[in-house]
Parts: sequence; C-alpha cells; structure tokens
Amino acid sequence: MQEKDVNQIKREFWQRQGRQILAIAVALFLIILMAVVYKRQDLFGEYSKNTLVSAQLAVITAFICFTVFNWRCPACKKYLGKDIHKHLCRHCKTRLR
Ligand SMILES: [Zn+2]
Repeated sequence: MQEKDVNQIKREFWQRQGRQILAIAVALFLIILMAVVYKRQDLFGEYSKNTLVSAQLAVITAFICFTVFNWRCPACKKYLGKDIHKHLCRHCKTRLR
C-alpha cells in the first residue's frame, strides 16, 4: 500500500467529514419531511403510512450504505466509528486533523 502524506490524509478526511455531515443533514431532512407529510395530509395529499415508513426505511438504508462507503480512515480504510469529530483513527492512530 502506498503511503500518503499527512496533508493528503487531512484533506481527504476533511472531504469525507463534509460529505458525512451533508448526508446526515439530507437524511434527517427527508425523514422529518416524511413525518410532516404524514401529519399534514391536508397540505401534501394522502400517502399511506406504509408508503411513508418504507420511504423512511429506504432513506435510512441509503444513509447506512453511504456511511459504510464514506466514513473510513483515509490511511487504513477502516470504519471510523460513531464520533464525527475525530482527531485520531482508532485503528492506525493516524492524525486526521
Ligand atoms: Zn486508520
């Protein structure tokens, strides 16, 4: 495996973190939107609860797939865990910021 320099790792982590925060925002927005659509059927028209719950599950599944793909250490490619504001990779101890 080719060694990456520190700045490259930090830049890649920064990009991954940006994408991750965006994905969290989009996923939350869609889930809340669907809850609002369900509550305000007078505004948005009628959708069955099953349709909306399926759509929410689809968003959650897509988010998890994206996270598994995106939220990895730029150096060792291992999953980074729950904390979005990491400083160190817990697997290879690479500084991420
Ligand atoms: Zn690592």
